[in-house]
Amino acid sequence: MSASMVFTDCSSSTNAARLLPLRRRSPLLRTNNGVVFPRRLINPIPPRSLAIHSSSSPSQLSWGEIAAEVLRMKDAIGTVPGLAVILVGDREESATYVSKKKEACEVVGINSFEVHLPEDATEQEVLNSISGFNEDPSVHGILVQLPLPSHMDEQNILNAVSIEKDVDGFHPLNIGCLAMRGREPLFVPCTPKGCIELLHRYGIPIKGKRAVVIGRSNIVGMPVALLLQREDATVSIVHSRTKNPEELTRQADIVIAAVGKTNMVRGSWIKPGAVVIDVGINPVEDKKKLSGFRLVGDVCYKEAKEIASAITPVPGGVGPMTIAMLLCNTLISAKRIHNFQ
Ligand code: NAP
Repeated sequence: MSASMVFTDCSSSTNAARLLPLRRRSPLLRTNNGVVFPRRLINPIPPRSLAIHSSSSPSQLSWGEIAAEVLRMKDAIGTVPGLAVILVGDREESATYVSKKKEACEVVGINSFEVHLPEDATEQEVLNSISGFNEDPSVHGILVQLPLPSHMDEQNILNAVSIEKDVDGFHPLNIGCLAMRGREPLFVPCTPKGCIELLHRYGIPIKGKRAVVIGRSNIVGMPVALLLQREDATVSIVHSRTKNPEELTRQADIVIAAVGKTNMVRGSWIKPGAVVIDVGINPVEDKKKLSGFRLVGDVCYKEAKEIASAITPVPGGVGPMTIAMLLCNTLISAKRIHNFQ
């Protein structure tokens, strides 16, 4: 891990007086104007020290449901969904993500296929692998692990994935349909879909709510804003040129942070009772860890959990949901290709 990727956690600079010890916390949060909100924690893998989490685990629930559907399909028509992953180069993080996806496939009974090309592979070699998987009837989903080496044209490569197997949902036709009223994409990108699924599973209303999405990337910010709009939220997007990000964010009932900046969103940015989905995954130095670092989000969790009514932790929040949605998209694809209801 290069030093430039390691940031300092905000916890040391947090004003401790604003944080109550957990044992003294009420399950209800009373704001200055007397409004009382229930505290909840959206947490697929709840930390044991917290007594205020929901006991259900949405991502694990999804995995169970997917496994049952995979088995039903196999029993009924003898077909097992298949996911192909193309990894180029030796980035440790990418290799970890790919192996997590393969493990998840194994858990739910989805077949996985992998092509691992060297860093100096040509774009044509990647295109050849995609073309092979496009033609392969045992493959129902194709995923190209990003980022690709800089000598490759990412757009060219993503465009080559057959739209019927684009389980990442990054093909421009899928994104175009997501953006248009009255059109349905074949696949919705996994991380944005996971964020919305979390809100649904915890019964958090979206319709008519004010939502702020921090970040506008093609893979998270932009599609999650489109999804929230489809769910009838009123959506504002905060990006690097936004003049008053804190003020805008404080107006939101739902905050989705996808920036890639350690603890950028402080407690003071959050409206009391708001729901916070933290997509960020940022390494910070931690000498106590064997790896020398740990992962934190874009939201200062320590501060935000005192103000929000629900918040996802990092790690263990959006990450597992993203993998669950990838499995889900692969299953949807196999069902569609084989016309299996
Ligand atoms: P990205 O492509 O780098 O986009 C970052 C976005 O944040 C950009 O739109 C950028 O604005 C905006 N931004 C940067 N600095 C800002 C600032 N100071 N104030 C407001 N906005 C700012 O990142 P990404 O791929 O969307 O990923 C974002 C984070 O999510 C990363 O930590 C990544 O690791 C994580 N992630 C997690 C998962 C998961 O499964 N949990 C999946 C994907 C990504 P401009 O457009 O103006 O440059």
